[in-house]
Amino acid sequence: MSLAQKLSEERRARLAAERLLELKQAELTSANRKLGHHAMALTRRIGETQAEVETVRFENERVKSDLSEANQKIEIAERRLWYSIQTIQDGFAFFNSDNTLIGANTAYLNVFDGLEEVEPGVCYTRILQILTDEGLVNTGSMRARDWRHMMTQRWFKAAPPPVVLQLWNNQYIKLIDHRAADGDVVSLALNITSSVRYEAELKAARARAEAANRAKSAFLANMSHEIRTPMNGVVGMAELMSDTELSEEQRLYADTIKNSGEALLVIINDVLDYSKIEADKLVLHPEPFDLERCIHEVVMLLQPTLRDKGLDLLVDYDLFLPTRFIGDPGRIRQILTNLVGNAVKFTNSGHVLIRITGVPGADEARTAIHIAIEDTGIGIPRKKIDHIFGEFNQVEDDRNRQFEGTGLGLAISRRLVELMKGSVWVESEEGVGSCFGFRLALPKADGAQPMPPHLPEGLNHVLVVDDLLVNRDVLERQLKQLGVQVTCCASGPEALAAMTEDIDIVLSDHNMPGMDGLELAVKLREAGWVDTPILLLSSNPAFTQNDPAVRIVQGVLQKPISRADLFGKLADFGALTSAASVYDPDDISTSVAAKDPMMPAGAGRRMRILAAEDNKTNQLVFKKMVQDLNIDLVFADNGFAAVDAYRDFKPDLVFMDISMPKMDGKTATREIRALQSGIGRHTPVIALTAHAMAGDAEDILAAGLDDYLTKPLRKSVICERIQRYHPTGADPLDRDADA
Ligand code: ADP
Repeated sequence: MSLAQKLSEERRARLAAERLLELKQAELTSANRKLGHHAMALTRRIGETQAEVETVRFENERVKSDLSEANQKIEIAERRLWYSIQTIQDGFAFFNSDNTLIGANTAYLNVFDGLEEVEPGVCYTRILQILTDEGLVNTGSMRARDWRHMMTQRWFKAAPPPVVLQLWNNQYIKLIDHRAADGDVVSLALNITSSVRYEAELKAARARAEAANRAKSAFLANMSHEIRTPMNGVVGMAELMSDTELSEEQRLYADTIKNSGEALLVIINDVLDYSKIEADKLVLHPEPFDLERCIHEVVMLLQPTLRDKGLDLLVDYDLFLPTRFIGDPGRIRQILTNLVGNAVKFTNSGHVLIRITGVPGADEARTAIHIAIEDTGIGIPRKKIDHIFGEFNQVEDDRNRQFEGTGLGLAISRRLVELMKGSVWVESEEGVGSCFGFRLALPKADGAQPMPPHLPEGLNHVLVVDDLLVNRDVLERQLKQLGVQVTCCASGPEALAAMTEDIDIVLSDHNMPGMDGLELAVKLREAGWVDTPILLLSSNPAFTQNDPAVRIVQGVLQKPISRADLFGKLADFGALTSAASVYDPDDISTSVAAKDPMMPAGAGRRMRILAAEDNKTNQLVFKKMVQDLNIDLVFADNGFAAVDAYRDFKPDLVFMDISMPKMDGKTATREIRALQSGIGRHTPVIALTAHAMAGDAEDILAAGLDDYLTKPLRKSVICERIQRYHPTGADPLDRDADA
């Protein structure tokens, strides 16, 4: 190889080495830079970690200080808790799940009377042993072992029931133990000695009060009986005396005796009832009853007052409302008597209307009944209206003092309605009138309900004659609901003018100004309307019947007319028409009894009445009260005599005093019912009772009596009952009719 070649080769080799060197230097520089970056990142991380370590250290310091503060607080709380537990008068202890006492306050330990063994560490069962061994607890009739067994059983329950211990020193401790989830037990021993003593004292006081209350009730019942019996003599004799010939002055005396006696009886009843309601002693006695009949009975009792005051009383019983419900008829009658009695008392002219409606929307089983009593009386001032349902509250002003009353009637009525879960309301305008009402939801009684009848063929048009608009309205609405055409007239002359061939029956009020109902009947007959039946509505049918002209009408109905009477009469339209058609205008005196199928002719025997009554004065009162009636009357002095008389005399009706010597009225009635059983006979027996206490009525009716009257007896009520039970076939009660 030439030198030149060698030089060139060396130069190439040197160039290649220089390039390699450059390359390596560049790589070295890049590696150096990377290293620098890593070193910086590492330095930053170290810095950060140092800061974090610092924070954690600081946090640690803070937690440490918080912990010691919390420990201090716990210590204070524990001290306070313990102090509180020590301070309470009742015992407090806790046991661990091994039933070992951990701690107890002094009150707890005091029970053990300084026995050192009872301290933290002692076992619960050992405590029980100490209690019995040392005689600290009175185990009563239980043996000590049984008692401990009972207490141990209890202790191991998940939730031990409280137990009361009697200690040797007559202290009573109630143990309330609570077992926690981890098995620890907290035991509280309450000292209930004073409440046990108080309870015992209360029990004794209650027993004494109940005995006193029973004595009071018995006293009230007796007093009621004792006052009513002589009062029967006073009021009855005064009533009879009023019927005799008296000078004006004597009449005033007799009336005053009667009125004062009756007022006294009302007061006695009110006070009795109110005290009973107050003592929560008033119990309702629900039974099936006829609401409409109940209302009419109340109205009948008020008839004499209504007549004296010249007031009209109307009953508007919703035609499609059932009448048989389940409720306490005695108490419902009492509410009605109070409200209707007030309406009559505080009304001097106009009318009283009792409206009974059924309200839809009540539940299936019960019917919501609204009874509203509207009057056209003195009304109640607006500011007094909230006040009158309170006890002894009356609208007190000079005007009011003319009215008697205890001021208890509304208070009693409201309480009775509330007892029946109903409500009472009142609306009134002074000088215009009042409307008192109450709602009751009563279940319907089983069995048939009186339904509006299908009117007989040929009865399409009724002429209603009454001077009182509200009466015409009620009749018109009821008759229209039955599907007949109704023409209303306000007077006799108007009726005469309105009479047409078209009219099938005339329904006329008896007592009308100008021309009364009977005069209208005579005029109608004279005018040639001889076939049209005429029915008279009278608030005093006995009086109307006395008029000879009554023979030309086909019936006299008691006002306010009950739906049953009205339906019954209208259903008999055929018989009424044939009775009317036998009328002979020339012979007004012909006995109507022979013509009127509604009034059967006498069969030659008088109605037989047996009155069982031991009190001679009351016998005399009774005898005098019925002396105008064409009846055969026999008295029995006691229950035995009554049963004998029933056998021999076979009465149509029996009046039975309830309390009589030897055999009382209820027993006598049971005997009479036994005699009748199986022979299909049922003689009505009406109880005469001096008791006005609740429950009497139910007792009496349960003994087989049909009805009851409370003394003092009233002539009108006795006569009404005799009339009601007058048997078909007996001579008329009116002596003249018999002649
Ligand atoms: P009493 O009738 O015995 O006074 P009540 O409690 O029955 O007691 O009635 C309280 C008062 O409410 C009555 O005194 C009377 O002032 C007033 N009052 C009750 N009913 C009526 C009524 N229908 N019209 C006017 N005022 C009445």
